[in-house]
Amino acid sequence: VPEGDSIARLAARLRTRLEGRTVVRFEAPRANGPRPKPGVTITKVESYGKYLMISFDDGFVLETHLRMTGRWDIYGPDERWRKPVHLARAIIEVDDAVAVCFSAPVVRIRREKRQDNESGSPVDASKVGSGQLGPDLCRDDADLDEALRRIPLVCEPDEDIADVLLDQRVAAGVGNVFKSEVLWACKVNPLTPLRDVDDETRRRLLETAATQLRANLGRGPRTTVAGPPGSLAVYARGRRQCRRCGSTIRWQRTGRDNRSTYWCPTCQPRDAH
Ligand SMILES: [Zn+2]
Repeated sequence: VPEGDSIARLAARLRTRLEGRTVVRFEAPRANGPRPKPGVTITKVESYGKYLMISFDDGFVLETHLRMTGRWDIYGPDERWRKPVHLARAIIEVDDAVAVCFSAPVVRIRREKRQDNESGSPVDASKVGSGQLGPDLCRDDADLDEALRRIPLVCEPDEDIADVLLDQRVAAGVGNVFKSEVLWACKVNPLTPLRDVDDETRRRLLETAATQLRANLGRGPRTTVAGPPGSLAVYARGRRQCRRCGSTIRWQRTGRDNRSTYWCPTCQPRDAH
């Protein structure tokens, strides 16, 4: 499942093939309203949290969120698509490539002022998604003070800290894998109610999330601990040994959306932080 790091990497991959290019075909069969016409230029491809945005020089912005099912592919002109055309939710063709978004549940076209649409202009988070996204932890300039300030405004005191980390209104980018990895790194039990997590620990969790996400913006499989590429601390390691203490990793579905959560019962005991 894509998290902030994978969407940032996807944006980088699409950027090299699309930015500055002229659109010869644009389709978004399920999106409402006006849309960019052939002949427009793609001005920028960027991500914010788990959203991907593609901007055009006539002010249009295509925004997608892949959730669990969606994917973006980029193909050469004669290359065979890996999914059937009826699953395509957006198609952007330039002279030597076609980018196709399959099965994304969120595909939206909006319009911005032209100067906001130029390459290099900052992302206005109030326009992305619900308009309520917190700082994007994948970005070097993410404002962690702002993320901390948002926690009591959008979360309940009895909410699990694991759900707080997933709340994109606090900070954008953390998904279900990083949730478990960050809590293990900080030795915090995922089921700790927010009210029992002090400010210092909250900051440490956000800093760790930012560090882990940013460490995964390059090539290679997602890695959060020392070891071969792809090494994770606890995620999908249920019943295996904790890399720190050797205890058996626990697995349980937790929280608002019943998401898989992994932790070490010894390193992450249930007490106040
Ligand atoms: Zn342990």
